[in-house]
Amino acid sequence: MVERPRGAGARAQPLAIDAGRHGPGLGDTVARECVFESAQPNGTKLRAILYDRISEDPDGERENIEIRLAESRDYCDAQGWVVVAEYSDNDISASKFSRKPRDGYEALLAAVKAGAGDVIVTTEMERLYRRLEELLELIKLAERTPLRQIVCTDGSGYSLSTSQGIHAAIGAVNNAMLESAKISDRMKRKKAAKAGNGWWWGGHRPFGYQLVEQEGRTATGKKFIYYELEIDPAEAELVREGVKRVLAGETANAIAHDWTRRGIRGARGGALDNTQVTRTLTSPHLAGLRTHRGKLVRGNWPAIIEDREEWEMLRAALQRTPRMPRPRSYVLLGLLYCFCGTRMRGHGRKGKREYECRALDGGCGRTRRKADPIEDAVRDAVLTALADPEFRAALAGELRARLGTDASVRELVARRDQDRARLVLLRDRLADGTIEPEDFTHAKSRISERLEGVERALAARSSPDATLLAQLPKEYEALQAAWAKWNLDRRQAVLRLALNRVTVQPIRRGRQVFDARAELKPDWRV
Ligand SMILES: [Zn+2]
Repeated sequence: MVERPRGAGARAQPLAIDAGRHGPGLGDTVARECVFESAQPNGTKLRAILYDRISEDPDGERENIEIRLAESRDYCDAQGWVVVAEYSDNDISASKFSRKPRDGYEALLAAVKAGAGDVIVTTEMERLYRRLEELLELIKLAERTPLRQIVCTDGSGYSLSTSQGIHAAIGAVNNAMLESAKISDRMKRKKAAKAGNGWWWGGHRPFGYQLVEQEGRTATGKKFIYYELEIDPAEAELVREGVKRVLAGETANAIAHDWTRRGIRGARGGALDNTQVTRTLTSPHLAGLRTHRGKLVRGNWPAIIEDREEWEMLRAALQRTPRMPRPRSYVLLGLLYCFCGTRMRGHGRKGKREYECRALDGGCGRTRRKADPIEDAVRDAVLTALADPEFRAALAGELRARLGTDASVRELVARRDQDRARLVLLRDRLADGTIEPEDFTHAKSRISERLEGVERALAARSSPDATLLAQLPKEYEALQAAWAKWNLDRRQAVLRLALNRVTVQPIRRGRQVFDARAELKPDWRV
């Protein structure tokens, strides 16, 4: 008998994955150990140690460690090797740069150190290593233990007793580190082949179903746990109700409101909103289907929506729900409100930009306006206001007032006002002829320099709004020219400087042309 390895992760566990109700928990280590068998008396059979690791799956489906280990077992059977131990880790929450110790991996090292195995078998090199140092550690171990090879189930192998083998292994780890997120096509084919087995691959149960634990056996007779979906009668009834309502023209939002009112919760216990209702009702599981690599394939569970055509109609209906607009191209977003009190959304309809009040957002859903005339009218009104010295002074005063009673700010403001008054006085003197032009220029540049410093200091102390206001040109034409050069962020900031909101008014009957005065009600900041 080979000595049993001692290591943190080398604790004996039941053979099947201890998965709880919904598969292995994140961060769990599944360390499993068969009884170490001695090397065959005739010495012809290699002793294999299996290792695998669950990691992030780009398909968003939980990988099944059992499938991977079963693959390795089958490979060993085919080679005529004896599996002496199996170890695995769940690394779903760890990155390849993670320093988190892997219990299963530590146990593997302990087994190798104890001389338990001649070969390590894994499904892919990247399962075994995240870092080159880990490989180097194994290479060192190979110098003083029976370990001679690392073999992947695709047949690629690395001899650790020759320099070529070590070189190849290092290269493979480098590749694995570069492509650690990639799942090999081989595994995907394997999963596709198993997709029709009725195994539930996702983590959590889908709405309408319960997970039922089942026990399976691999080709080599080992037991493992998997899950089947069974219809949950109460939730299935809700699904059928939802389908009927959507096909009758109701929105996902209305259903979400109603279900929330009735205390109906999602599969994970959370309240259902419009997005979740849409996601729930369009889920392929309800039609007995699953997506695999972008294609719908038959799952082996009962459909709640048995009519495939009905399900397609449902999906089409829910996908007609207006999508979220690309928010970047609508300058009035957040500023424009429907008269019903709802913030209006930007929406591109057949290439025409519009703002609309959406029922989805809780609004009346009846107001819709072309974007360009409203945007132009609001822009003109704001630039006109900003070119008005009275408005501007009031706005500056408002912003100053908000700064509070900061003494240093008050002092800076006083100095700035003094210098401004001096400049005015200087110009008067020049006009009166009581000062020589050279002296004027000299004095003016001194005062201007000081004033700029004070203004910069003030800007640094004041709100972004005050800074923005101070930077704006003062004349209407200059403001217009500047507007043309500003990006969307700056334009929005300038509009918000002057306005709290703009409310779109109901259109009067018989209206022919856009009348900004009648249709837009601005709420100015001052
Ligand atoms: Zn409205």
